[in-house]
Amino acid sequence: MSDTSKRQQLNRIFQEAVENDVCTDLAKHATQLVPGVGNPDANIVFIGEAPGKNEDEQGEPFIGAAGKLLNELLASIDLTRDEIYITNIVKYRPPNNRDPSSEEKKQFVDYLTRELAIIEPNVIVTLGRHATESFLPDLRISQVHGQPQSWEESVLLPLYHPAAALYNGGLRQTMFDDFAQLKQFI
Ligand code: URA
Repeated sequence: MSDTSKRQQLNRIFQEAVENDVCTDLAKHATQLVPGVGNPDANIVFIGEAPGKNEDEQGEPFIGAAGKLLNELLASIDLTRDEIYITNIVKYRPPNNRDPSSEEKKQFVDYLTRELAIIEPNVIVTLGRHATESFLPDLRISQVHGQPQSWEESVLLPLYHPAAALYNGGLRQTMFDDFAQLKQFI
């Protein structure tokens, strides 16, 4: 499949999420749905939790403070955003950045599954508890961060959410160490 048609198919998914009124309560409070971005042919897909304030305003995932740290982490293993694909489980900003509910995650899961089916990444990086538990509910991020897991045909690498390292400086080095695991898949 060409890049263009993959991009078109991805756009259709996001359009359908809007047309199907997924999470209307979140949509009511949000500026816009924040679609996944990046390379539709990426080998590595990063999955966050839900957009924050900056992402809601600008319609792009991980462009605020957590996104800046994600850029530093990518640079530490010589990856750029052009080489990867980034998306969120929940695609509307929850009010006041509260945690997305199980119901909200459930409503978006089919759309995320369809994104992954188009991109077919070798590696899925889940950022934080919400993303990790959506794939492997029995895992605890504090126990498995940085340890590659199997998920269907892909490797799943659970990592702490970059925002966690912004609140807890002690996690910063752990995140860089865990990120180094990705080098073997580049
Ligand atoms: N945190 C997330 O989980 N996703 C974003 O897009 C931004 C911050």
